[in-house]
Amino acid sequence: VPDAVGILKSLVAIPSVSALSNRPLVDFCAGLLRQAGWSVDEFAYAGAGGVEKVNIIARPLRQQSDAAVATAFVCHTDTVPFAASWASATNLVESEGMLHGCGACDVKGSLAGILAAIAAGPGRSYSQSVALVLTADEEIGCIGATRLIAANVIRPRQVIVCEPTGLRPASAGKGYGLARVHVKGREAHSAFPQHGASAVYAAAAIVRAIEGWAEQLKSQHNPLFDPPHTTVNVGVIHGGSAKNIVAGECEFLVEWRPLPGEDLGAAARALQDIVQGQARTYNCEAEVEVQRAEPGFQNPADSRLVERLAALTGREITGIPFGSEATRFARVAEEVVVVGPGDMRSAHSERECIPRAELEHWAAIVSQLLG
Ligand SMILES: [Zn+2]
Repeated sequence: VPDAVGILKSLVAIPSVSALSNRPLVDFCAGLLRQAGWSVDEFAYAGAGGVEKVNIIARPLRQQSDAAVATAFVCHTDTVPFAASWASATNLVESEGMLHGCGACDVKGSLAGILAAIAAGPGRSYSQSVALVLTADEEIGCIGATRLIAANVIRPRQVIVCEPTGLRPASAGKGYGLARVHVKGREAHSAFPQHGASAVYAAAAIVRAIEGWAEQLKSQHNPLFDPPHTTVNVGVIHGGSAKNIVAGECEFLVEWRPLPGEDLGAAARALQDIVQGQARTYNCEAEVEVQRAEPGFQNPADSRLVERLAALTGREITGIPFGSEATRFARVAEEVVVVGPGDMRSAHSERECIPRAELEHWAAIVSQLLG
């Protein structure tokens, strides 16, 4: 029977960046699952550029293939792209108790632990209905999960979404908002600025005002999160055309990560007020295009799934500030927890790794959760 580390080595060796088909990775997993007596249903679709993408739902053979299921584990199968200079990205290397490789913690480690737990009990019967859901295209916007949920092929009561949390059960997650702000001024020779209206000056004032808004949001306090409030970021800005022209256009992106329960419309309105107020002061026009507005999630205080995971992992309950498929599944499930071995702070970089001990602990926890 393959162990978690051996399975992780195989998973890391199969490149599955979002631009590629995840077919090879999914086929490898399906092979292990079938050997353990699980049935595998495939839901394929054409992704960007016509590349084949596959979601799968696997269940123990003797269980009904109903959409309704008590507990579903969800792992995404894609990774972010890795730098060409990372020579051992697809070769799992162990050093001082840490296993290094692309996807080691995000999220092939979690997947390896689950597959090892299932492989250890071929033909085993479970006291509850369980499913393993593997999704495509998480890293480029949770596309696979969104499709599966829309197709209504799975209605889980409890969902365990795997992401590296250092095995701390995350009972809440922040939402995600993104808006493009376009400021339009009037070009003029920079020797005669009085004939123009600088979109760059207006945008700078707007950005300063957004910084002030972010400061006000710090009065919020949800102790599950670090930091415990909604955060705001202006990550990209472009404007102007030449050093001696009063800038006619400036455009930037504003991202915010709202606390669960926060009114998403209110954030968009606050942003709109800031933008229009400052743009007027600079005789410019501005447009706010909200591109994403996704609510966060938070389980009820008495969630049994959260309590069970806290007991099994021995870790404190937390909240996650990054996006995940949990916000999607929270719309259809009663309880959703994000948990998994490894630390997200090493993910999406050449530092990506997972502690061997935590991976093995996770495999043991999954074995108990399967029931
Ligand atoms: Zn992930």
